[in-house]
Amino acid sequence: MAAARKRIVLLGATGSIGENTLRVIAAHRDELELVGIAAHSNWRRLAAIARDFGVRHVGLFDADAHDAARAESGAFPSGTHLHRGLDGLVTLARLPEAETVLVAVVGTTGLEPALAALAAGKDLALASKEILVLAGKFVLAEAARHRAKLLPVDSEHNAVFQCLEGHPGAGVKRIVLTASGGAFRDWPEERLRDVTPADALKHPNWNMGPKITVDSATLANKGLELIEAQWLFGLRADQCDAVLHPQSIVHCLVEFQDGAMLAQLCPPSMTFPIQHALLHPRRLPGVDTALDLTRALSLDFRPVDIRRFPMLGLAQHCMRQGGVAPAVYNAANEVAVAAFLAGRLPFLAIPQVVEQ
Ligand code: NDP
Ligand code: MG
Repeated sequence: MAAARKRIVLLGATGSIGENTLRVIAAHRDELELVGIAAHSNWRRLAAIARDFGVRHVGLFDADAHDAARAESGAFPSGTHLHRGLDGLVTLARLPEAETVLVAVVGTTGLEPALAALAAGKDLALASKEILVLAGKFVLAEAARHRAKLLPVDSEHNAVFQCLEGHPGAGVKRIVLTASGGAFRDWPEERLRDVTPADALKHPNWNMGPKITVDSATLANKGLELIEAQWLFGLRADQCDAVLHPQSIVHCLVEFQDGAMLAQLCPPSMTFPIQHALLHPRRLPGVDTALDLTRALSLDFRPVDIRRFPMLGLAQHCMRQGGVAPAVYNAANEVAVAAFLAGRLPFLAIPQVVEQ
């Protein structure tokens, strides 16, 4: 008899992580079943996904979009349940038939649904890094209380998770997350004064949503990831480090007490970590082509210059301070990045706003 499929709820189905997740599920329809999807307002795309994957529960955060979707109910398969607002996301996160909830909503809106999923005993696959930055202590406590699994989807954390499988935590000296350096890695400092949002949205290696792409250029993304890693792996601030690695092929290095390091490698596509998290602990053929070692491959590493990337130093400062400092870092950065994308703040002023 065929094994039952793992039933997935996907919050943030219309975004960059969402679309990559759909590619993974589409390639593994015998193992994975999509039972719930949600987005902020893009109901037309949700309707197409619902038809394609036979999803019966659909959530829209935005009330107007929800009403528009309801008015055109013929767009959805018959019998579709439409849920609205934050309550709707929480209902999806608790769906009795779901086993794994993947939270890939940009920002902190995913926190309540994430806590609800854990309280209902679901496995939580976490892409939205803002959630652990804001409330790592509470999310970890809730997971422990309900013996729910926390599966990191962010590529670096998923990589650490893979390196640590089978290793007792005590032997770990530190972890090093790799950073591509983003759109301006090789730009001279004086050119950074005039960069536009369009410049910042051209990431050399990864294809992602706008907020995280800007965060990659300032290295705020790596700052958020260090904070996230501290919670996920129970480490001290001084055990979490970052290194520049322009190729984005090595996603982490885990250094053990004896000086040995383990690394995780794969091409820069989010389908690799998403598939690992959704199928865990099974390994099946991937969606994207694996590394080709019949061709020359160079891997470069260099230390991060904190003066050039002040957002990383600020994140480490907040980690040492603890308490609400990481949440303040995240909120200030969200506001500053939105102002930059709206053309109201120069790029170099983002760290100044956050430092203040
Ligand atoms: P996108 O901007 O591409 O997509 C955001 C998604 O969230 C969309 O589906 C959007 O819906 C939905 N959304 C936004 N606000 C709400 C809300 N209030 N309620 C419900 N849904 C909402 O973002 P990404 O996919 O790039 O990133 C998602 C998260 O994953 C972020 O936290 C990011 O840091 C993290 N992440 C992303 C990576 C990547 O490669 N992209 C890598 C690692 C982590 P709508 O389309 O209707 O607006
Ligand atoms: Mg990442």
